[in-house]
Amino acid sequence: MSLETIRAALNKACEKAGRNRDDVILVAVSKVQPNARVAAILDQGHRVFGENKVQEAAEKWPAFRESYDGIDLHLIGPLQTNKARQAMELAQSIHTLDRPKLATTIARLAQEMGQCPALYIQVNTGMEPQKAGCLPADADAFIKACQDMDLPVRGLMCIPPADEEPSLHFALLAKIAARNGLAGLSMGMSSDFESAIALGATHVRVGSAIFGNRVYEQ
Ligand SMILES: *Cc1c(COP(=O)(O)O)cnc(C)c1O
Repeated sequence: MSLETIRAALNKACEKAGRNRDDVILVAVSKVQPNARVAAILDQGHRVFGENKVQEAAEKWPAFRESYDGIDLHLIGPLQTNKARQAMELAQSIHTLDRPKLATTIARLAQEMGQCPALYIQVNTGMEPQKAGCLPADADAFIKACQDMDLPVRGLMCIPPADEEPSLHFALLAKIAARNGLAGLSMGMSSDFESAIALGATHVRVGSAIFGNRVYEQ
């Protein structure tokens, strides 16, 4: 597929769901992709990207920012507290706030730096032990705790289990967001962004469908 194909599919999914196209942001997930592929998407005018590792983002994006204006970088991978400062310097949004220690670290750094990226709280909707995210049962209290620290919480994020119907997880995430008065929903990837949009996604994170398959070095 290509950026153009995905844009057309997004338009169609929004139309079908009766949603305004401007309310759904396409985050092009560029992790592991060669710079030439990323530059090709930038050259087509796209500016919103997602990376899942701080280190990789730091190697790639400062250089791209020298050549392209208006880059909007989203960090979508698990975040260690000792990388929080670097993440906050690099990214405009962090989608993976998921525990109290990270929240207090970000709050302290935000005070010190005088700025803070937009934050999304990751919810482990499938309660998978290997996956990051706060548990659904802890979400309301964690959201409240983050808001009490004056953190700019814009919404929630989830990654459904690979072997389950994703729409059940999208619906759960939307329900938790709604009862907490949060507007943002970061959900939906290459294989399921249509159903995420139907269930209210405001940010879809699409990688391979735009860039092609990721080739991991051995
Ligand atoms: C890699 C990744 C994506 C993109 O996955 P695709 O299936 O390539 O679209 C989305 N979200 C997160 C958190 C990811 O790590």
